[in-house]
Amino acid sequence: MTNIRAVTIGLCALNFLWAQQPDISARRIRAHVKFLSGDLLEGRGPGGRGGQLATEYIATQFMLAGLKPGGDNVTYFQGVPLTGVQTEKSAQFSASKGGQTIDFKWSDDFVGVNERLTADDRFEGDAIFVGHGIEAPEFQWNDFKDVDVRGKVLVLFTNEPASSDPKFFGGRALTYYGRWSYKFEEATRKGAVGVIIIHTTPTAGYGWEVVRNSWSGEQPYVKVEPGQHALSLAGWVTQESGEKLLSLGGHHVDELLKAADSRDFRPIPLGVRILCNLPTKVREIATRNVAGMVEGSDPKLKSEVVIYSAHWDHLGIGTPVNGDAIYNGAVDNATGCGILMELARAWAAQPKKPRRSALFLAVTAEEGGLRGSQYYAAHPEIPPGKTALAINYDGLFPFGRTRDVVVNGADRTTAWPVVEAVAKRMGLTIKPHPRPEQGTYYRSDHFAFAHVGIPAFSVELGEDFIGKPKGFGAKAFDDYNGQHYHRPSDEFQEAWDFSGLAEMARFGFLIGAEVANQDRLPTWRVGDEFLAAREKSGVR
Ligand SMILES: [Zn+2]
Repeated sequence: MTNIRAVTIGLCALNFLWAQQPDISARRIRAHVKFLSGDLLEGRGPGGRGGQLATEYIATQFMLAGLKPGGDNVTYFQGVPLTGVQTEKSAQFSASKGGQTIDFKWSDDFVGVNERLTADDRFEGDAIFVGHGIEAPEFQWNDFKDVDVRGKVLVLFTNEPASSDPKFFGGRALTYYGRWSYKFEEATRKGAVGVIIIHTTPTAGYGWEVVRNSWSGEQPYVKVEPGQHALSLAGWVTQESGEKLLSLGGHHVDELLKAADSRDFRPIPLGVRILCNLPTKVREIATRNVAGMVEGSDPKLKSEVVIYSAHWDHLGIGTPVNGDAIYNGAVDNATGCGILMELARAWAAQPKKPRRSALFLAVTAEEGGLRGSQYYAAHPEIPPGKTALAINYDGLFPFGRTRDVVVNGADRTTAWPVVEAVAKRMGLTIKPHPRPEQGTYYRSDHFAFAHVGIPAFSVELGEDFIGKPKGFGAKAFDDYNGQHYHRPSDEFQEAWDFSGLAEMARFGFLIGAEVANQDRLPTWRVGDEFLAAREKSGVR
């Protein structure tokens, strides 16, 4: 796209912006966040009472705002059938070589799930170290080489080979290959019996406590089809336990971290036998996405939509920390839901609606691996080829307004000139993601939409907070990530300032409204990993 064309689109957006300024209220967003993160909602676990209450509340807000039902059978709900598995505390896992056996303790040393989703599973297998567990032909990288790992227990590190070259594993940014979910998927494709990820804080991007808290509660899974292979153990060990396991095989964490960064790396059989028993509570989970629609004003284009999304679920009730077992998820992600409901209200209140329709989608089971958004992507109300754009909100800090905004991935789509024009109009500077190495693009629901070709990104606050000292934003992030992220202390604070969230809602509103009015649907730019899926959906 040439600059001249970009400017033209920018001016169109500007005209539109003058015409309609959305009435977005920080006070209403605050009220939604306070309600959704209250103890009454029990941490909004999917399939529990708190989750039912949260979805009922969001659907009621959609109804009050005048949205039409966008779910199953003319309701606001899309049923998402999942299987919930919770590993019992009696779970055991040991490693032996020669006469020596090391036992690992559930939660302190390891966590994991039986992805076969069966109640009682016991297995043994030989451990083999496979580096980062990546096979990526486009980067000429294969950690497996020609080694058959069927029936083996793969020991690996999450993350990907270190790089500062943007053409090699995205440079500093993490690609999907670096995500733990990819490791489990690749191991499943290769027929492994289990995976043990050795946690280190730098490779994971967060501490052991986050891994433990995220994996010790019930995990939602899509059902395993008969005859489909699944891992008997998808698990993690602490760095300390990883060190013990590796030293049994004559190796060390530091040495293998280094070895894993080499293109010549070959899998290393550890000569260690893994024995595992994961007694598991299994139940059917009937959870749901909440969907509300505002019809477009153009008789033809109203069959197409702009999606706004936010996940409503959090971790429910789990391991107590300082006597508190309710994982309230105020920042993660009552904030996104508050924005979503306020956006829906403002959109429906417009006297003249944009040409295309808008779908407001509060999705379930994000924390358990983007299950709700994946389910929607596979069973969409409006097909991906008729979906213009998806704008997602996940985990925004209510610390006031910022001078900057982060729209990770928007520059990869042809909606970029609109995003730039709206930012300019609002006096916001677009900043690159401050921590691309954490792979945030693959860590929230917009990824599930991108996966089926829909141009999609999340809107996040930047770190340059107005009226706060330099470095405040980065410190706030470190503080939240280190002390509250996925912990019971992610709780509502009366002192919070929601003006920045209202600003981000306005920003997303204006982008969506402009895209909903344009003649052509946006797509992914040439060379992008999601362009093929977009073309498959019918959009060129
Ligand atoms: Zn989360």
